[in-house]
Amino acid sequence: MRTRSLAELAGIRLADTKIRGLGPKFAAILEKAGIVTVADLLLHVPRRYIDRRRMAPISGLRPGDEATVLGRVRSISSRPLRGRRVLVEATVGDASGSIRVIWFNQRWWVEKLPPGTEVALFGTVETFRGRLQLTNPVTEPMRGGLTKTGRIVPIYPSVAGLPTWRIQQWIEHALPHARPLVDPVPPDVRERVGVVDRDRAIADIHLPESSAAADRARERLVFDELFRLEVALALQKRRQIDEARGFAHPVGGPLVSAFLSGLPFELTDAQRRVLAEIEGDLAVEHPMHRLLQGEVGSGKTVVAVAALLTGIDGGWQGAVMAPTEVLAAQHYLAIRSLLDLAGLTPPQVGEGERLGMGSLFEEDRPSVRLALLTGSQVAVNFASGATRGEVLAWIADGTVDLVVGTHALIQEGVSFARLGIAVVDEQHRFGALQRVRLRDKATEIDPDLLIMTATPIPRTLSMTLYGDLEVSVLDELPPGRTPIETVAISKADEDRAWELVRRQVAEGRQAFVVCPLVEDSPKVEAASATAEFERLQGVFGDLRLGLIHGQLLPREKEAVMEAFRAGELHVLVATTVIEVGIDVPNATVIVIEDADRFGLSQLHQLRGRVGRGAHPGICILLCDPSTEEGEARIAAMVATTDGFVLAEEDLRLRGQGTVFGARQSGMGDLKLADILRDFEVLAVARREAFALVESDPRLERHPELAAEVRALLGDVVEWLFVS
Ligand code: ADP
Ligand code: MG
Repeated sequence: MRTRSLAELAGIRLADTKIRGLGPKFAAILEKAGIVTVADLLLHVPRRYIDRRRMAPISGLRPGDEATVLGRVRSISSRPLRGRRVLVEATVGDASGSIRVIWFNQRWWVEKLPPGTEVALFGTVETFRGRLQLTNPVTEPMRGGLTKTGRIVPIYPSVAGLPTWRIQQWIEHALPHARPLVDPVPPDVRERVGVVDRDRAIADIHLPESSAAADRARERLVFDELFRLEVALALQKRRQIDEARGFAHPVGGPLVSAFLSGLPFELTDAQRRVLAEIEGDLAVEHPMHRLLQGEVGSGKTVVAVAALLTGIDGGWQGAVMAPTEVLAAQHYLAIRSLLDLAGLTPPQVGEGERLGMGSLFEEDRPSVRLALLTGSQVAVNFASGATRGEVLAWIADGTVDLVVGTHALIQEGVSFARLGIAVVDEQHRFGALQRVRLRDKATEIDPDLLIMTATPIPRTLSMTLYGDLEVSVLDELPPGRTPIETVAISKADEDRAWELVRRQVAEGRQAFVVCPLVEDSPKVEAASATAEFERLQGVFGDLRLGLIHGQLLPREKEAVMEAFRAGELHVLVATTVIEVGIDVPNATVIVIEDADRFGLSQLHQLRGRVGRGAHPGICILLCDPSTEEGEARIAAMVATTDGFVLAEEDLRLRGQGTVFGARQSGMGDLKLADILRDFEVLAVARREAFALVESDPRLERHPELAAEVRALLGDVVEWLFVS
């Protein structure tokens, strides 16, 4: 018999088939719901099954049972209730007895379930006036369900209001024509992963002989989804490698050695490990694409500078790019002082000596010539008063080793003599990451790329959304940091929070109070923050309070921040403008009002404002959560300070759909797989997919797999097979 492939079935529109009972009208309805091809139909899998072989008769039901009831409607009627509500009431019976079923405000059942209809009901059995009853059960009109005794009946998710029995009929009719199906996943992979073959899986997911068979079928289909996705990612990565023109850097050169041995502290184990991972990338020819994750203060900058110096050791230039000018300036200062600490500051050059710069630097002591270049500022660490023109010329002729700027550095085509390595700092805006394609115009070379972010990204996402990047994690803070204690306090007890603030202030510390989130507009938010500020002035009486919100002019903000930094203010009342980058080590307590309304990652960033100095930090979540999700967020914050755990929890609470939705990459196409629940499968699928693509980079020896990835993910990964 001829075998079919899923790829082939993905090319057959339902409208062009002769599936019994599926005429043009239904084909159009299905198409609207995204079920266009035979493959789509076969991958529309049951959401549950009724095991007809082991179903209790109605007379065997007990109050409190979670039950599936299969029977025939004996009578059904509706009557109005007060307040425009409607009660539908039915009696459903089988050979053994009957049960009363009621639905509130679902008047359509009277039409859809005339007496005589078979129906499957799922719900909790109750008693009402001595009779068994189901209230608002999940209701599936059936056809032939009763006659299919002795088998397992699939219940399909409804599509555009079509009943499960119709979908079941179509699939049952289509299956014999579609099968047997070839398996595009090589047998050795299947064996290692321990999954059943494709044909078995498609048959068993729809018509299982046992619930174990249905489970195995589902496992296989989950694996298929994740494997396809990972193959696509592996191909994408492969393409990056093939197209890129990189080069191998010599590692362990004199600048890196001098830098590391000159630092007044030892690298943490995490820093050592990550640096080794980066050096592994740099040592090979193809360009690095690595994501470096680590919380604020975990020591990313030190690692990044060591990576940049490896490039500079090899005679290349390095660049650091930040999302804003302010952050660029901060990086410049941080890097300058690290170079200072390690004794790598070059000798200063006077005005008269500037011509013929290159020859002046032939000295014994290694040093690094560093420059800052943004729209508003220029500076270098080897001469004072450099002009913009000079700095640009020094970058172009290779005098400058390392340039710090904004993302505009590359986009606006500053010309480098030989750019070899770039560090892109995404800070807290990782979600907005645009893959940078760097190619140095002068050398036609793709520099190595290290992307830094302080936003923890769950492993599940770095294996899917960001699956074409290598990932390094700094999961250990340098010694001497004190953990932050987090408490949740009800608003009724807010005095306890203010008391904690007073105590910290009495010990010479400072506090933040974050005002409730106001989503209306920045204006309304500012007004509400001002009102809160005035209220708190009454609460704190003798303490000095400052107010900062988004409606202040930049210089007003700066003045308030300066006063707070200088210790002239005890308490800074703020909106979330303090979320990013504010660093006041003497601030030890942060009170977040209505904390349950903030997102987890925002809460985590806010909490990161304290505990940055020698004194332990306290975070107070002042709130009375009104939703289950809000409650879960607060519980997570109290339970852990681990950003990765929180990111994972955030993903769980929000669901993968919202996360994928933010970045259209076809990964929203996961129908059966759930990257959190199926994490283990994801990891296995990724390993297998990458190994397979490694051994067969264009899938020439796996044409079925190539066809399937193209057919099922083609519209989102159209770049895949472009040669
Ligand atoms: P990040 O860039 O991840 O926010 P930084 O690299 O700026 O963190 O490091 C934060 C601070 O910790 C800096 O003052 C840095 O000098 C210091 N630091 C970095 N690594 C270590 C270490 N291994 N031991 C002690 N201090 C360190
Ligand atoms: Mg930093």
